[in-house]
Amino acid sequence: MQFCNLFVIITLVVVTNCNFLRKALTFIFNELCEKMLSKTQNLIKNNKVLTKIVSFVLVIVLSFVISFVSCGITFGLKVIYNGENIGTVSSGKVFEKAVTYITANTNHFKAVNAIQNASFRLTLTVADNLLNKEQLAEAIAENTDEISSANILYINGKPMAYTDIKNVHELIEESRCRYYIDGAENKSEFIDDVRLEKFFAYANRVDSDVDVENIILNLNVKTISKVSFESPIAFSTKTVKTAAQYIGYSKVTTKGIQGVAAKTELVETVNGKESSREVLKNEVLVEPVTQVVLTGTAVQMATPTEKANAQSAGFIMPLNSYDHISAYWGDGRNHKAIDFAGKRGQAIFAVQGGVVTCAAYRGNYGYLVEIDHGNGLKTRYAHCNALCVKAGQIVTQGQQIATMGNTGRSTGDHLHFEVLKNGTQVNPHPYLFK
Ligand SMILES: [Zn+2]
Repeated sequence: MQFCNLFVIITLVVVTNCNFLRKALTFIFNELCEKMLSKTQNLIKNNKVLTKIVSFVLVIVLSFVISFVSCGITFGLKVIYNGENIGTVSSGKVFEKAVTYITANTNHFKAVNAIQNASFRLTLTVADNLLNKEQLAEAIAENTDEISSANILYINGKPMAYTDIKNVHELIEESRCRYYIDGAENKSEFIDDVRLEKFFAYANRVDSDVDVENIILNLNVKTISKVSFESPIAFSTKTVKTAAQYIGYSKVTTKGIQGVAAKTELVETVNGKESSREVLKNEVLVEPVTQVVLTGTAVQMATPTEKANAQSAGFIMPLNSYDHISAYWGDGRNHKAIDFAGKRGQAIFAVQGGVVTCAAYRGNYGYLVEIDHGNGLKTRYAHCNALCVKAGQIVTQGQQIATMGNTGRSTGDHLHFEVLKNGTQVNPHPYLFK
């Protein structure tokens, strides 16, 4: 009687793989063993050989049962569908549930007619290999021509696409991560509520892959990226003035060097477009080196004797008035004159009497008047608007010789005034200013 009970329980344990029954089985085994022990003690006295055989068989059976149960081996039913073994289930009801699941989740009523009948074959299997209704439904769909496993893409609760793209989940993930910044700590989320719902498509009634991909790859995404990078720090420039150089002179005495900052920023983008940026860290790694520039302040550097000599030429100013001196002698571009900025058409006068040696258009000078004052001194008046004298003409001091203009290589109305001593330009400043 007890053997009979034991057999029923063992079978139940194997079929259902139930924990409670497994415990019950162990308990009954223990009970049984004790009783058998006392009975076998009697038997031992009568027949030692028989006892040994019974014990041996019992041990073999027990170890088989225990190893079967502990390995999770159980009975199952192979599902033969459309001529193929499509998996193993615990009972035929799983197939019925799978069919119901498909028909409840399809987009066409004819889908149910496309599902064929299945046959079952008893088998031993590992419990973990048994399919549930969802898994079996997938296998049925895979082996039914008119049905395919598919998904409905919902955006904000509205069904936007029906698709049988196999890697649709990965595609959605790819879309969500599509604005990640390389090398940054990124996280992102869809701005809309995006979800997939399982369904079974009948006769390929799904949207085209291209259309679905287009919808997925255009989903609105908010991405937050923590970006760390090194950024240059601009150097500042300090100017040091020197009277030992003319106005316009400029020389870098210490070269500026950019510094380096370590920055961490939180960048938020919406569909790849930056919507906000927050600086989390801005640390100076290398201080910048300030650039030092030496600039000249001198308008002239004549010795008292040179100044007295220049003044002795007795020049007057070539203009009644001017706005400002726009360039001095010897500036950074080796300017060999003084430029007076003024008004177009204002009169230009001879600084001293002499003979006009040039009154013509001369390339970069534009309209030019040159006067020879004798004693190796000449003056030039360039960029004129109009000329009032001719070459060879004798002019007196203060006589108008031209009008101010912007001819030749010039960027505004001004008089470019040169003094030549023995054929070489010299600084006009001491000749005009005390
Ligand atoms: Zn000039």
